[in-house]
Amino acid sequence: MPTDLPELLFPKKSQPDIESFPCGLGKQLQLTIKQVCGSLPITKHEIKLELKVSKNPSLIMSNKSIGLDSKLYNYLLSVSLREPEILQQLRQETANHPYANMQIAPEQGQFMALLVQLLGAKKTIEVGTFTGYSALAVALALPPNGQVIACDVSAEFTAIARRYWQLAGVDGKIDLRLAPALETLDELLANELAGSFDFAFIDADKENYQAYYERCLKLVRVGGLIAVDNVLWDGQVADNNIQDSSTISIRDFNYQLHNDRRVTISLIPIADGLTLALKH
Ligand code: CA
Repeated sequence: MPTDLPELLFPKKSQPDIESFPCGLGKQLQLTIKQVCGSLPITKHEIKLELKVSKNPSLIMSNKSIGLDSKLYNYLLSVSLREPEILQQLRQETANHPYANMQIAPEQGQFMALLVQLLGAKKTIEVGTFTGYSALAVALALPPNGQVIACDVSAEFTAIARRYWQLAGVDGKIDLRLAPALETLDELLANELAGSFDFAFIDADKENYQAYYERCLKLVRVGGLIAVDNVLWDGQVADNNIQDSSTISIRDFNYQLHNDRRVTISLIPIADGLTLALKH
């Protein structure tokens, strides 16, 4: 406590407990002094405060999503990633691919596998397969009679996927459909498979996100989950100077989903942002 402050400034009955202030938050400290002093001219007095940094962790934790620098990201992986060897190998091979950044992050694959287990999922859809990491992560988490319908247009990329699915012994669970995904999804709907899927993952061309979502929403059951990738788009969605078609499409999609009362949503800031939408 300061000892030489005039009583006028800090009347005894309202003397603040300086040491109890959250010292790590300068603005809050100033505000509190101002509140105590009201309109008194505190600038005429020399106020000496000895700031003690509280050891209470609640004062240093943030209540918003933490940014991960490389050191903290590596720590996260070191204490939580349980990546099967076959997924590690696929990730290493894909790392040399010119479009390597299209592969999901390993902690995201693990998270999706957990979601699939949580749902007790058997039937799943994937829109955008690339070299097969996400389909493999999901297939490994599915029961023996589980199924992934994997949509992609690239025979070249999915040749890598097929090789690893076979090596992992889950190729029987993954039904690769080499065609524009909208055609495949419409075909599933035409075959009266609406409401029969437990989980859908959307991670293809961003311009069609809304169209993929609408179809997947029909295909999943009530209580089924749709996961939509890249919704934070490397931060570009929040920069209005960026107006390319992919960014605009993701922005529009995020805006519309926020107002979509057919689902319960949560945007998870994992990897490049993953929105979960639970069908009512
Ligand atoms: Ca992606």
